Amino acid sequence: MRTPIIDQLDELSNWVRQQGQPAFRVRQIIKWIFENRAQSFEEMTDLPQSLRTALAEQYSLFSVRIEKHDQAQDGTEKLLVQLPDGGLVECVLLRDGDRRSICVSSQVGCAMGCVFCASGLDGIMRNLTTGEILEQMLCLQRLLPADERLSHIVMMGMGEPLANLDNVVLALHWASAENGLGISPRRITISTVGLPPAIEKLAETDSRFHLAISLHAPNDDLRNELVPVNRNIGIQPLLQAADHYFDVSGRKLTFEYVLLADINDQPEHAHELASILQGRTAILNVIPYNPVQGLPYRTPSSQAIAQFREILQSANIVVKFRQRKGDKINAACGQLRRQKVQQL
Ligand code: SAH
Repeated sequence: MRTPIIDQLDELSNWVRQQGQPAFRVRQIIKWIFENRAQSFEEMTDLPQSLRTALAEQYSLFSVRIEKHDQAQDGTEKLLVQLPDGGLVECVLLRDGDRRSICVSSQVGCAMGCVFCASGLDGIMRNLTTGEILEQMLCLQRLLPADERLSHIVMMGMGEPLANLDNVVLALHWASAENGLGISPRRITISTVGLPPAIEKLAETDSRFHLAISLHAPNDDLRNELVPVNRNIGIQPLLQAADHYFDVSGRKLTFEYVLLADINDQPEHAHELASILQGRTAILNVIPYNPVQGLPYRTPSSQAIAQFREILQSANIVVKFRQRKGDKINAACGQLRRQKVQQL
């Protein structure tokens, strides 16, 4: 099988040299991939024919295949992408005013086991390669007309990005590079269940990105139930790692909180949450639960949501409520893949 070129970008200079070609050919190839949205090496018309042929013999331009493409009324589009080994992942394009945000997966399945989430229901299969992460971005980019650009990336698809840190960071390097997708790191968010050693490593190696921490509970008893990996972590050590990332990166932290009816949406939860977030420069992103078929969890009533918001706001916590987009097309993590896997 030919190697996907996108997994070999760092090796490309050597290869081009071996072909007896000047170094600027690398820049041309990379521009065709990221900027010109090339679909084949043949399209790369400013390269000599011999080089185009050699590229096609050595490399594949895309290794993934779009298995399913859904579009919602609100402009949200979701792709179910099949990997070379048959694995399936999902990624989403969201349109909001001028924003063209994409939500990308980092693993096939997930090992974190959050009880309400569809992605981890069948456990973890494997990490995605850097190329497979980037190819999702390129597939989504091609859904846009030629004069529109991707503006934001959230690593909020399937999987735990910090459990696949090296590949995610390299993919985001290309996403943010001037000669890559050129998306400012300020507009790139890594969403994590919160693995302190990986947060520390990210702080040391590449702290240009926003971090969003999926808290989902204001105390360890409840978090241990909803987010089972918390049993080995604990909220306090997690908050410490988050604070350290904030210090090093200067990026505002985001905490995510999925609101589950009667489980973590009560006034006492809101008060406790306010008290642990107090004094931090952080945004709290509250996400009303998007129901997953086969799971018992429910979205809270609008009254419960409003009350939750009020308590936090009167404690001066900056709260954002994430709009639900694309629920008709199962746009929440792992739902589409699950539907497909169950059909197979
Ligand atoms: N592993 C990463 C990315 C997960 S997806 C993390 O834990 O952050 C991004 C967010 O969506 C997480 O906060 C996740 O807990 C949440 N989520 C998962 N399933 C959901 C659902 N059905 N409805 C609403 N939010 C959900």
